[in-house]
Amino acid sequence: MTEQFLAGRHFLQIPGPTNLPEWVLRAMDRPVPDHRGAQMPALVGELRENLRALFKTEHAEPVLFPGSGTGGREPALVNTLSPGQRVLSFQNGHFARLWAEIARRHGLAVDEVQLRWGDPVRAADVEAHLSAEHRALLIVHNETSTGVTTHLAAVRPTVDASGHDPLLLVDTVSSLGSIDFRFDEWRVDVALTGTQRASCCHHQRRVNGGVCVGERAQAAAETSTAPRYFYDWRPVLDEMAGGYFPYTPATLLLFGMREALRMLLEEGLENVFARHALLAGAARRAVAAWDLALLCQEPDRASNSLTAVALDGEADSDHLVHLAHERLNLALGVGLGKLKGRVFRIGHLGWLGELEVLATLAGVELALQLAGSSVALGVGGGRRPAIPQRPLVS
Ligand code: PLP
Repeated sequence: MTEQFLAGRHFLQIPGPTNLPEWVLRAMDRPVPDHRGAQMPALVGELRENLRALFKTEHAEPVLFPGSGTGGREPALVNTLSPGQRVLSFQNGHFARLWAEIARRHGLAVDEVQLRWGDPVRAADVEAHLSAEHRALLIVHNETSTGVTTHLAAVRPTVDASGHDPLLLVDTVSSLGSIDFRFDEWRVDVALTGTQRASCCHHQRRVNGGVCVGERAQAAAETSTAPRYFYDWRPVLDEMAGGYFPYTPATLLLFGMREALRMLLEEGLENVFARHALLAGAARRAVAAWDLALLCQEPDRASNSLTAVALDGEADSDHLVHLAHERLNLALGVGLGKLKGRVFRIGHLGWLGELEVLATLAGVELALQLAGSSVALGVGGGRRPAIPQRPLVS
C-alpha cells in the first residue's frame, strides 16, 4: 500500500532529531569504506580535533559509541563509578529522571532531589544537598522535556565552595552545538551527547552517542568496578588515538559528522549560539503573543534550543500536536512523562533560520485555531518585531 503524504515540505520542528542539511546527507552518500582502511586516521583525527573545539576543551578526549543519547549516558556512569557509590541528581524533567533511573539500574545509590519540572538546577539546590558522600553530580544541561537550561557557570563555584569534590557528569544532548557549553572552564569531568543534535552536530541528532572525557574521569575508569564491555571507554580511547575503533563503527555516519562539525565551526560557534538565541527569542515572543505560558518561569533560563509551552485547563496538547501533524505536515514535540497532554514543544535547534521558525510559528497558530483557540493568525510572527536583524559575531 502506498503511504500517503501531504504535499509540500515536512516541517520537522521537534527538539531533535533535527533536519539534516543537504551537505551532511551528501557527505554520507558514498560507498561504505573499510573501517580498518588507510583513510580512517585522517577522518578520526579531524573528528577528535573538531569535537574538542565543540566541547571547548584542550585536553579532554572525545569517545564515540554507535548509539543515541541514551547510549552516551551509560559509559559516563559505568566508567567513573562503582556499584554502591552515592551520586546526587536533580529531577527537573523527564530526561533528568531517566538518567537517575539508569544510575539506579547500575547499582548506584542515587539521591534524587525533586524539583519543579520547568525549573533549572540552581546553585542553591546544589549547596543544600551536596555532601561528602556524593561521588558524582549528574546534571542535564538543557532539559529537553521542559525547555530549561541550567546555569552551569553558577553551579561550578558552588560545588567548589562546598569543599567536596564530586565528579561533574553533564548531559549535553540538547545543548551541545546550540547553547554555549564550556568543558574546561566549568571543569566538567564527563560530558555526554548524541550527535542527533549533535554533540556534535545537532544537525544529526541520532547518529552517534558521544562522551567527552576529562583526565579525572579517565583516572576513575581505572578503579571503577562496574561491569562493562562495550561501554568500557578505555579500548575506544586507545584505538581512536590511532584513528580506529575497537568495534565496527557506523562509518558513513562519521562522514556526516565530519561535515556537520565543519559547518558548525565554519559558521563559528559564537554565531551558532547567537543564531539560536535569536530564534528562541522569536519563539518566546510568539508564545507571549498567543497568551500562553512557558513552562520555564525564569526568563534567563529558558532554553535556546526549544520552547516548551504549557496549556491550561482542559486543553490537550497531544491533540494539538496531532492536528499540526495530520493537517499541516508540521511535527511538534509532545509533552513527555508527567507533562504528557499538558505541554507541547517547539524545536528551534540545528541548521535552521528565520523563515523556518516564522513558518513554524504560523503553523502553531493554525494548529491552535484548528484546536478551537481564538488566537489570531500572524500575531506570533508578524505584528511584533519577532525577528530583529541577525547579529553576526566575527
Ligand atoms: N538526554 C536528553 C537531554 C535528551 O533530550 C534525550 C533525548 O531526547 C536523551 C538524553 C536521550 O537521548 P536518545 O533518545 O537519543 O537516546
